[in-house]
Amino acid sequence: MPSALITGITGQDGSYLSEILLGKGYTVHGIVRRSSSLDRPRLLGQYNDPEIYGKRLFLHYADLSDTTSIRRILVNARPDEVYHLAGQSHVGLSFEIPESTCELTAMGTLRIMEILRDQPNNPKFLHASSREIFGTPNVSPQNESTPLNPNSPYGCAKSFATQMVRIYRESHGLFFCNAILYNHESPRRAENFVTRKITLAAAKIKLGLQSKLTLGSIDSARDWGYAMEYAEAMWMILQHKKPDDYLLATGTSYTVREFTQAAFEHVGLNWENHVELDQRFVRPADPECLLGDATKAKEILGWTAKTKMPELVKMMVDEDLKSLTQSTR
Ligand code: NDP
Repeated sequence: MPSALITGITGQDGSYLSEILLGKGYTVHGIVRRSSSLDRPRLLGQYNDPEIYGKRLFLHYADLSDTTSIRRILVNARPDEVYHLAGQSHVGLSFEIPESTCELTAMGTLRIMEILRDQPNNPKFLHASSREIFGTPNVSPQNESTPLNPNSPYGCAKSFATQMVRIYRESHGLFFCNAILYNHESPRRAENFVTRKITLAAAKIKLGLQSKLTLGSIDSARDWGYAMEYAEAMWMILQHKKPDDYLLATGTSYTVREFTQAAFEHVGLNWENHVELDQRFVRPADPECLLGDATKAKEILGWTAKTKMPELVKMMVDEDLKSLTQSTR
């Protein structure tokens, strides 16, 4: 039975990935941080399943800043595959906390790679890179060869880690890969990301629980896909015979305005009656339009993003409506 270790298992992508791997018969080890609450809502289904938790799913306490714990977990679990998804994942917030963002996202990744380099079983390694490594690119769409030119602390940290993955693959001959991820969302997206903020507000306004939604820039365009499909692609990358980097995107971009309009229309409301703009929510450096070309993933792995923004919005709004209705009963 293959085994995998996931850092960031409690996050959006980690929770989908663990479900996918368990479904494929893997034993899954996840790294979790100590927090004052034991609430891990995205893992609840697996956690409460007596056939899964403690039998094929194991959670271990560690932190990206705690190298000795991570080493101990890796040495004891001896996973065949390591999916490194943990990190401070909010781009806007990285301008507020640049030091810890770089410490965990850049150096944290390097430390894990150094531990893996010493492992006798040569585990395969996937790093969750980001389209933020391209900053505001001169070319559209972007692909795996687009030059790195980050314009946020988050993008800079991801660029460092991405390039180090390439260096370790080429210099040490290790099976290390980057998944260069464009935005991907789901009902599990944290509430401080713009997409979830919008879908939650549309649902709350519909139910009379909120009156206004405040947004920053609504003209920025993003290439939004569905997180579960991106998690599946991460697995596919590590199954290919040759380690490499793959860009994962839908190839279609929509503005925040279009996303908002779709969310409100889905609940029968006119967004313009409920949205106000506030410059405080505008990011210091916000790339206007980002569009990914995932041709390589399609041709080599057979992966394409099937869910596009209109279906994604409906899925997210419907889930928000459902959970709000249940919690207010
Ligand atoms: P989330 O923010 O949902 O999850 C982040 C995970 O990292 C959580 O499990 C979190 O734990 C964990 N984590 C954060 N800091 C530490 C730390 N110091 N030690 C241990 N664990 C830590 O992110 P996503 O699932 O959306 O993204 C997964 C990865 O993909 C991230 O690296 C992100 O930067 C990258 N990415 C995501 C994109 C997207 O659109 N979703 C786009 C491009 C890249 P806790 O639950 O305790 O907070």
